[in-house]
Amino acid sequence: MPLCAPAEDAAQAVSDGGAGARRRTCDGGTGAAHSASHVELDTARTMRSGADGPPSCLYVVAAWVPQRETIAVGSLGPVEFARGWYAYVGSARRARHARVARHMRQAKPLRWHADYLFARHPATRSGLYDGPLDECGLAGRLLEVAGAARGPAGFGAGDCRCGGHLVGPLSAAQLRGMFASLAVLAAEPAT
Ligand SMILES: [Zn+2]
Repeated sequence: MPLCAPAEDAAQAVSDGGAGARRRTCDGGTGAAHSASHVELDTARTMRSGADGPPSCLYVVAAWVPQRETIAVGSLGPVEFARGWYAYVGSARRARHARVARHMRQAKPLRWHADYLFARHPATRSGLYDGPLDECGLAGRLLEVAGAARGPAGFGAGDCRCGGHLVGPLSAAQLRGMFASLAVLAAEPAT
């Protein structure tokens, strides 16, 4: 039995915080309608991850920064963001939907690096991922998929040693491609 999302909901791109949500995932995530082919891929992946270990329970949320802006990001200090979309990879073993909703809310205690960005510019896009990659790995693969720059060094990476879990700035087309890739990435074999 998977610990988080039912197979049908894994790695779905969810717009606007789960409008049209039909199912609970990962203790509270939501999913929107998705294509049958992606559902099949997700089913295969989730069955494998059920055998190999728990699914990763990751999410990706994205916000639009309308113009160049310097934001004080907690321990990182002042960080300059160019205009564009920024996608953040996070994980939540429990209450994933609540975590995604937090990133879409302006008012909140500033606890994580992501809070400093999303309190200024609440996330408006989200997707789920349950596959073989961890946060660092998924952020790295999304960089490749989007052909984008990594965001500020160390952003969201307080507990690891990777370059950061924020991807951007991205164009709208890059962002769409990135979300569309989530189901495909979830179906990749573990390395
Ligand atoms: Zn990392």
